[in-house]
Amino acid sequence: MEKRELLYSGKAKSVYTTDDPDFMVLEFRNDTSAFDGKKVEKLDRKGLVNNKFNAFIMSKLADAGIPTHFEQLLSDTESLVKRLDMIPLECVVRNVAAGSLCRRLGVEEGLALDPATFELFLKNDDLGDPMVNEYHARSFGWAEDVHIARMKELTFAVNKVLKELFEAGGLTLVDYKLEFGLFRGEVILGDEFSPDGCRLWDSETGEKLDKDRFRQGLGGVVEGYEEVARRIGMSL
Ligand code: UDP
Repeated sequence: MEKRELLYSGKAKSVYTTDDPDFMVLEFRNDTSAFDGKKVEKLDRKGLVNNKFNAFIMSKLADAGIPTHFEQLLSDTESLVKRLDMIPLECVVRNVAAGSLCRRLGVEEGLALDPATFELFLKNDDLGDPMVNEYHARSFGWAEDVHIARMKELTFAVNKVLKELFEAGGLTLVDYKLEFGLFRGEVILGDEFSPDGCRLWDSETGEKLDKDRFRQGLGGVVEGYEEVARRIGMSL
């Protein structure tokens, strides 16, 4: 597969076309952003760590029967993926209250949510990714009912697989964000799964080992990601 031209450059990844219209190359950069791009920094090794982390997690999810766009690692910072027609919604599952849920509903960080809860956000930087519901998605034509149902089903299926995986490494999967797209009419998991898009706490101490280290200026951001990788049996 030959890497061709730059298609799109997001806040942390760049996307390139290939000589096959069904596939793209994702490049994981060191750029790290938070607060809708208001805080931006380059963190050494982050691109490499997230690329390998994502490959590891996507492979575990594929083993569990969850369709993903991931094909193979191409280099330290690049992966080959299927080219999806992206659905402009972020699916968030929360096992424990944190982040925007606490700000919105005035609940304390750390409150266990049983059953886990599900939220949809519209991908729109100018509007700060507002929370939306399924009726909005339907009325504005962002996704069809059957696709929303499938995204929800897959997002919860991911929770089952990953909660166990992280628990075995002494980590609590607090929440995470997934994005989906269509490939030949089928809903497929796209984007990435890395500590940039989820919250992971040490189950014993509550230490944060995810992007909240960056958001909150705690330092040791990539070191936190590497600690997670080590605990789930990844080699970097
Ligand atoms: N998240 C993300 N990208 C976004 C917004 C949220 O990856 O644009 C992730 C975030 O890392 C967390 C989960 O989705 O794991 C829920 O985020 P939340 O709604 O609490 O927003 P935040 O506190 O990050 O503003």
